[in-house]
Amino acid sequence: MVRCVATEKHSKDSAAARLGVEFADEEDYVKGGGGELLYVQMQASKAMDSQSKISFKLLPIPDENSVLDLVIIGCGPAGLSLAAESAKKGLNVGLIGPDLPFTNNYGVWEDEFKDLGLESCIEHVWKDTIVYLDGNKPIMIGRAYGRVHRDLLHEELLRRCYDAGVTYLNSKVDKIMESPDGHRVVCSEGDREVHCRLAIVASGAASGRLLEYEVGGPRVCVQTAYGVEVEHGEHYGLKNGNGNDFHPTSVHNPHLY
Ligand SMILES: Cc1cc2nc3c(=O)[nH]c(=O)nc-3n(C[C@H](O)[C@H](O)[C@H](O)COP(=O)(O)OP(=O)(O)OC[C@H]3O[C@@H](n4cnc5c(N)ncnc54)[C@H](O)[C@@H]3O)c2cc1C
Repeated sequence: MVRCVATEKHSKDSAAARLGVEFADEEDYVKGGGGELLYVQMQASKAMDSQSKISFKLLPIPDENSVLDLVIIGCGPAGLSLAAESAKKGLNVGLIGPDLPFTNNYGVWEDEFKDLGLESCIEHVWKDTIVYLDGNKPIMIGRAYGRVHRDLLHEELLRRCYDAGVTYLNSKVDKIMESPDGHRVVCSEGDREVHCRLAIVASGAASGRLLEYEVGGPRVCVQTAYGVEVEHGEHYGLKNGNGNDFHPTSVHNPHLY
Protein backbone atom coordinates (compact mmCIF):
# COMPACT_ATOMS: atom_id res chain seq x y z
CA MET A 1 0.00 0.00 0.00
CA VAL A 2 1.24 3.49 -0.79
CA ARG A 3 0.58 6.35 1.57
CA CYS A 4 -0.19 9.79 0.24
CA VAL A 5 0.44 12.82 2.38
CA ALA A 6 -0.68 16.26 1.26
CA THR A 7 2.13 18.66 1.87
CA GLU A 8 1.26 21.38 -0.57
CA LYS A 9 0.21 24.63 1.07
CA HIS A 10 -2.83 25.93 -0.77
CA SER A 11 -3.20 29.62 -1.32
CA LYS A 12 -6.69 31.03 -1.76
CA ASP A 13 -5.52 33.59 -4.28
CA SER A 14 -3.83 31.12 -6.61
CA ALA A 15 -6.77 28.70 -6.29
CA ALA A 16 -9.27 31.47 -7.02
CA ALA A 17 -7.30 32.49 -10.08
CA ARG A 18 -7.14 28.92 -11.41
CA LEU A 19 -10.80 28.20 -10.76
CA GLY A 20 -12.25 31.56 -11.65
CA VAL A 21 -14.02 31.67 -8.27
CA GLU A 22 -13.91 34.58 -5.84
CA PHE A 23 -13.46 34.03 -2.12
CA ALA A 24 -14.12 36.77 0.45
CA ASP A 25 -11.42 35.54 2.82
CA GLU A 26 -9.58 32.43 4.00
CA GLU A 27 -12.65 31.19 5.88
CA ASP A 28 -14.84 31.52 2.80
CA TYR A 29 -12.18 29.65 0.80
CA VAL A 30 -12.24 26.72 3.23
CA LYS A 31 -16.06 26.65 3.30
CA GLY A 32 -16.06 26.59 -0.50
CA GLY A 33 -13.95 23.43 -0.62
CA GLY A 34 -10.49 24.90 -0.07
CA GLY A 35 -7.61 23.30 -1.94
CA GLU A 36 -9.85 20.33 -2.81
CA LEU A 37 -12.10 22.37 -5.07
CA LEU A 38 -9.75 21.98 -8.00
CA TYR A 39 -9.99 18.17 -7.79
CA VAL A 40 -13.75 18.28 -7.33
CA GLN A 41 -14.10 20.47 -10.42
CA MET A 42 -11.73 18.23 -12.35
CA GLN A 43 -13.92 15.23 -11.46
CA ALA A 44 -17.12 17.10 -12.32
CA SER A 45 -15.84 17.91 -15.81
CA LYS A 46 -15.33 14.24 -16.75
CA ALA A 47 -17.70 12.90 -19.36
CA MET A 48 -19.66 9.79 -18.34
CA ASP A 49 -22.08 9.36 -21.21
CA SER A 50 -23.27 5.99 -19.95
CA GLN A 51 -25.27 7.62 -17.14
CA SER A 52 -28.80 8.94 -17.59
CA LYS A 53 -29.57 12.63 -17.36
CA ILE A 54 -31.55 13.37 -14.22
CA SER A 55 -33.70 15.87 -16.09
CA PHE A 56 -34.78 13.14 -18.53
CA LYS A 57 -36.00 10.94 -15.67
CA LEU A 58 -37.53 13.24 -13.02
CA LEU A 59 -40.39 15.69 -13.39
CA PRO A 60 -39.57 19.38 -12.84
CA ILE A 61 -40.10 21.06 -9.48
CA PRO A 62 -43.53 22.75 -9.57
CA ASP A 63 -43.86 26.51 -9.98
CA GLU A 64 -42.85 29.11 -7.42
CA ASN A 65 -46.21 29.27 -5.63
CA SER A 66 -45.98 25.83 -4.07
CA VAL A 67 -44.16 25.01 -0.84
CA LEU A 68 -42.29 21.71 -0.79
CA ASP A 69 -41.77 19.72 2.40
CA LEU A 70 -38.10 19.25 1.67
CA VAL A 71 -35.48 20.49 -0.77
CA ILE A 72 -32.22 18.57 -1.12
CA ILE A 73 -29.33 20.51 -2.60
CA GLY A 74 -26.81 18.41 -4.54
CA CYS A 75 -27.23 15.36 -6.76
CA GLY A 76 -24.34 13.23 -5.56
CA PRO A 77 -24.90 9.86 -3.89
CA ALA A 78 -25.92 11.54 -0.61
CA GLY A 79 -28.45 13.87 -2.24
CA LEU A 80 -30.08 11.26 -4.47
CA SER A 81 -30.35 8.67 -1.66
CA LEU A 82 -31.77 11.13 0.85
CA ALA A 83 -34.25 12.50 -1.67
CA ALA A 84 -35.52 9.02 -2.53
CA GLU A 85 -35.77 7.82 1.07
CA SER A 86 -37.55 11.00 2.25
CA ALA A 87 -40.03 10.90 -0.62
CA LYS A 88 -40.71 7.23 0.14
CA LYS A 89 -41.85 8.36 3.60
CA GLY A 90 -44.48 10.55 1.95
CA LEU A 91 -42.69 13.92 1.88
CA ASN A 92 -42.99 16.18 -1.12
CA VAL A 93 -39.32 16.38 -2.11
CA GLY A 94 -37.49 18.55 -4.62
CA LEU A 95 -33.90 17.97 -5.67
CA ILE A 96 -31.74 20.85 -6.92
CA GLY A 97 -28.26 20.60 -8.43
CA PRO A 98 -26.32 20.44 -11.69
CA ASP A 99 -27.26 17.43 -13.81
CA LEU A 100 -23.87 15.74 -13.54
CA PRO A 101 -22.92 12.06 -13.59
CA PHE A 102 -21.14 10.26 -10.74
CA THR A 103 -17.46 10.40 -11.63
CA ASN A 104 -15.72 9.58 -8.36
CA ASN A 105 -14.83 6.18 -7.00
CA TYR A 106 -16.90 4.93 -4.12
CA GLY A 107 -15.45 2.31 -1.82
CA VAL A 108 -17.92 0.80 0.66
CA TRP A 109 -18.22 -1.83 3.37
CA GLU A 110 -20.17 -4.64 1.73
CA ASP A 111 -22.44 -5.23 4.74
CA GLU A 112 -23.48 -1.57 4.91
CA PHE A 113 -24.36 -1.48 1.21
CA LYS A 114 -26.35 -4.70 1.59
CA ASP A 115 -28.35 -3.10 4.40
CA LEU A 116 -29.24 -0.29 1.99
CA GLY A 117 -30.37 -2.82 -0.63
CA LEU A 118 -27.59 -1.64 -2.92
CA GLU A 119 -25.49 -4.80 -3.18
CA SER A 120 -26.32 -5.14 -6.89
CA CYS A 121 -24.35 -1.90 -7.46
CA ILE A 122 -21.08 -3.34 -6.16
CA GLU A 123 -18.81 -4.41 -9.01
CA HIS A 124 -16.04 -6.05 -7.02
CA VAL A 125 -15.73 -7.35 -3.45
CA TRP A 126 -12.54 -8.02 -1.53
CA LYS A 127 -13.37 -10.51 1.17
CA ASP A 128 -11.03 -9.02 3.74
CA THR A 129 -9.35 -5.68 4.26
CA ILE A 130 -5.84 -4.94 5.50
CA VAL A 131 -4.98 -1.59 6.97
CA TYR A 132 -1.46 -0.25 7.48
CA LEU A 133 -1.20 2.58 9.95
CA ASP A 134 2.11 4.07 11.09
CA GLY A 135 3.88 0.76 11.54
CA ASN A 136 4.38 -1.98 8.98
CA LYS A 137 2.17 -4.42 10.84
CA PRO A 138 -0.86 -5.43 8.78
CA ILE A 139 -4.16 -5.07 10.62
CA MET A 140 -6.81 -7.47 9.33
CA ILE A 141 -10.22 -5.82 9.59
CA GLY A 142 -12.26 -8.98 8.95
CA ARG A 143 -14.80 -7.06 6.90
CA ALA A 144 -15.53 -7.26 3.18
CA TYR A 145 -14.94 -4.11 1.12
CA GLY A 146 -16.46 -3.34 -2.23
CA ARG A 147 -15.88 -1.06 -5.20
CA VAL A 148 -19.12 0.48 -6.40
CA HIS A 149 -20.11 0.53 -10.04
CA ARG A 150 -20.77 4.26 -10.56
CA ASP A 151 -23.23 3.81 -13.43
CA LEU A 152 -25.30 1.19 -11.62
CA LEU A 153 -25.44 3.27 -8.45
CA HIS A 154 -26.51 6.39 -10.36
CA GLU A 155 -29.20 4.45 -12.21
CA GLU A 156 -30.51 2.72 -9.09
CA LEU A 157 -30.73 5.92 -7.00
CA LEU A 158 -32.35 7.77 -9.88
CA ARG A 159 -34.89 4.95 -10.25
CA ARG A 160 -35.69 5.21 -6.53
CA CYS A 161 -36.16 8.98 -6.85
CA TYR A 162 -38.47 8.48 -9.84
CA ASP A 163 -40.52 5.77 -8.11
CA ALA A 164 -40.92 7.95 -5.00
CA GLY A 165 -41.98 11.03 -7.00
CA VAL A 166 -38.98 13.31 -6.37
CA THR A 167 -39.04 16.42 -8.57
CA TYR A 168 -35.95 18.13 -9.97
CA LEU A 169 -34.41 21.49 -10.89
CA ASN A 170 -31.16 21.53 -12.87
CA SER A 171 -29.45 24.52 -11.27
CA LYS A 172 -26.75 25.62 -8.88
CA VAL A 173 -27.92 27.03 -5.54
CA ASP A 174 -26.59 30.47 -4.55
CA LYS A 175 -28.07 30.84 -1.09
CA ILE A 176 -30.75 29.74 1.33
CA MET A 177 -32.88 32.42 2.97
CA GLU A 178 -35.73 32.43 5.45
CA SER A 179 -39.06 33.94 4.41
CA PRO A 180 -41.22 35.98 6.84
CA ASP A 181 -43.61 33.01 7.20
CA GLY A 182 -40.76 30.81 8.41
CA HIS A 183 -40.21 28.86 5.18
CA ARG A 184 -36.83 28.33 3.62
CA VAL A 185 -36.27 29.94 0.24
CA VAL A 186 -33.68 28.18 -1.88
CA CYS A 187 -32.33 30.67 -4.41
CA SER A 188 -30.53 29.33 -7.42
CA GLU A 189 -29.03 30.52 -10.69
CA GLY A 190 -31.38 32.34 -12.98
CA ASP A 191 -33.17 33.95 -10.01
CA ARG A 192 -35.26 30.82 -9.42
CA GLU A 193 -36.65 30.54 -5.89
CA VAL A 194 -38.00 27.33 -4.40
CA HIS A 195 -39.92 27.51 -1.11
CA CYS A 196 -39.80 24.64 1.34
CA ARG A 197 -40.22 23.73 4.99
CA LEU A 198 -36.72 22.32 5.25
CA ALA A 199 -33.62 22.54 3.06
CA ILE A 200 -30.78 20.05 3.36
CA VAL A 201 -27.36 20.76 1.91
CA ALA A 202 -25.74 17.70 0.31
CA SER A 203 -23.44 19.55 -2.06
CA GLY A 204 -20.19 17.83 -1.15
CA ALA A 205 -16.96 19.71 -0.58
CA ALA A 206 -18.46 23.12 -1.31
CA SER A 207 -21.33 22.73 1.17
CA GLY A 208 -19.84 25.17 3.67
CA ARG A 209 -20.73 28.19 1.57
CA LEU A 210 -24.45 27.42 1.94
CA LEU A 211 -24.35 26.88 5.69
CA GLU A 212 -24.49 29.34 8.53
CA TYR A 213 -21.92 28.89 11.24
CA GLU A 214 -21.95 30.00 14.84
CA VAL A 215 -20.40 33.46 15.14
CA GLY A 216 -17.09 33.21 16.97
CA GLY A 217 -17.29 29.39 16.88
CA PRO A 218 -14.43 27.05 16.04
CA ARG A 219 -12.67 27.46 12.70
CA VAL A 220 -14.24 25.51 9.84
CA CYS A 221 -12.16 22.54 8.71
CA VAL A 222 -12.49 20.12 5.83
CA GLN A 223 -11.38 16.55 5.57
CA THR A 224 -10.87 14.84 2.24
CA ALA A 225 -10.03 11.32 1.18
CA TYR A 226 -8.43 10.69 -2.19
CA GLY A 227 -8.43 7.51 -4.20
CA VAL A 228 -6.53 6.28 -7.19
CA GLU A 229 -7.45 3.34 -9.31
CA VAL A 230 -4.55 1.05 -10.11
CA GLU A 231 -4.82 -1.32 -13.03
CA HIS A 232 -2.40 -4.20 -13.04
CA GLY A 233 -1.82 -7.64 -14.52
CA GLU A 234 -1.05 -10.90 -12.74
CA HIS A 235 2.63 -9.97 -12.09
CA TYR A 236 2.86 -6.39 -11.06
CA GLY A 237 6.17 -6.26 -9.27
CA LEU A 238 4.52 -3.99 -6.71
CA LYS A 239 5.40 -4.06 -3.04
CA ASN A 240 3.07 -3.45 -0.17
CA GLY A 241 3.91 -1.43 2.95
CA ASN A 242 6.00 -4.33 4.28
CA GLY A 243 8.10 -4.58 1.16
CA ASN A 244 6.39 -7.90 0.39
CA ASP A 245 4.84 -8.79 -2.94
CA PHE A 246 1.53 -7.09 -3.56
CA HIS A 247 -0.89 -10.01 -3.84
CA PRO A 248 -4.29 -9.58 -5.47
CA THR A 249 -6.21 -11.93 -3.20
CA SER A 250 -5.02 -10.32 0.02
CA VAL A 251 -4.43 -6.65 -0.74
CA HIS A 252 -6.23 -5.21 -3.69
CA ASN A 253 -7.64 -1.98 -2.45
CA PRO A 254 -7.20 0.82 -4.96
CA HIS A 255 -7.85 3.56 -2.44
CA LEU A 256 -4.91 5.47 -1.14
CA TYR A 257 -5.77 7.72 1.74
C1 LIG B 1 -10.94 12.96 -6.68
C2 LIG B 1 -11.80 12.18 -5.69
C3 LIG B 1 -11.53 10.83 -5.48
C4 LIG B 1 -12.30 10.09 -4.59
N1 LIG B 1 -12.01 8.78 -4.42
C5 LIG B 1 -12.76 8.03 -3.58
C6 LIG B 1 -12.49 6.64 -3.41
O1 LIG B 1 -11.57 6.11 -4.01
N2 LIG B 1 -13.27 5.94 -2.56
C7 LIG B 1 -14.31 6.53 -1.89
O2 LIG B 1 -15.02 5.85 -1.15
N3 LIG B 1 -14.57 7.85 -2.03
C8 LIG B 1 -13.82 8.58 -2.85
N4 LIG B 1 -14.08 9.91 -3.00
C9 LIG B 1 -15.08 10.50 -2.14
C10 LIG B 1 -16.49 10.34 -2.71
O3 LIG B 1 -16.51 10.80 -4.02
C11 LIG B 1 -17.37 11.17 -1.83
O4 LIG B 1 -17.38 10.62 -0.54
C12 LIG B 1 -18.82 11.20 -2.33
O5 LIG B 1 -18.87 11.65 -3.65
C13 LIG B 1 -19.60 12.13 -1.45
O6 LIG B 1 -20.93 12.14 -1.92
P1 LIG B 1 -21.84 13.41 -1.72
O7 LIG B 1 -23.15 13.08 -2.37
O8 LIG B 1 -21.82 13.81 -0.31
O9 LIG B 1 -21.10 14.60 -2.50
P2 LIG B 1 -20.68 14.74 -4.02
O10 LIG B 1 -20.55 13.44 -4.71
O11 LIG B 1 -19.52 15.67 -4.03
O12 LIG B 1 -21.95 15.46 -4.68
C14 LIG B 1 -22.24 16.79 -4.41
C15 LIG B 1 -23.14 17.31 -5.53
O13 LIG B 1 -23.54 18.62 -5.18
C16 LIG B 1 -23.46 19.45 -6.34
N5 LIG B 1 -23.29 20.83 -5.93
C17 LIG B 1 -22.15 21.47 -5.54
N6 LIG B 1 -22.40 22.76 -5.26
C18 LIG B 1 -23.74 22.94 -5.46
C19 LIG B 1 -24.61 24.06 -5.34
N7 LIG B 1 -24.18 25.27 -4.95
N8 LIG B 1 -25.93 23.88 -5.66
C20 LIG B 1 -26.40 22.66 -6.03
N9 LIG B 1 -25.61 21.57 -6.18
C21 LIG B 1 -24.30 21.71 -5.88
C22 LIG B 1 -22.28 18.90 -7.12
O14 LIG B 1 -22.38 19.23 -8.49
C23 LIG B 1 -22.43 17.39 -6.87
O15 LIG B 1 -23.23 16.79 -7.87
C24 LIG B 1 -13.35 10.69 -3.87
C25 LIG B 1 -13.64 12.06 -4.11
C26 LIG B 1 -12.88 12.79 -5.01
C27 LIG B 1 -13.20 14.26 -5.25
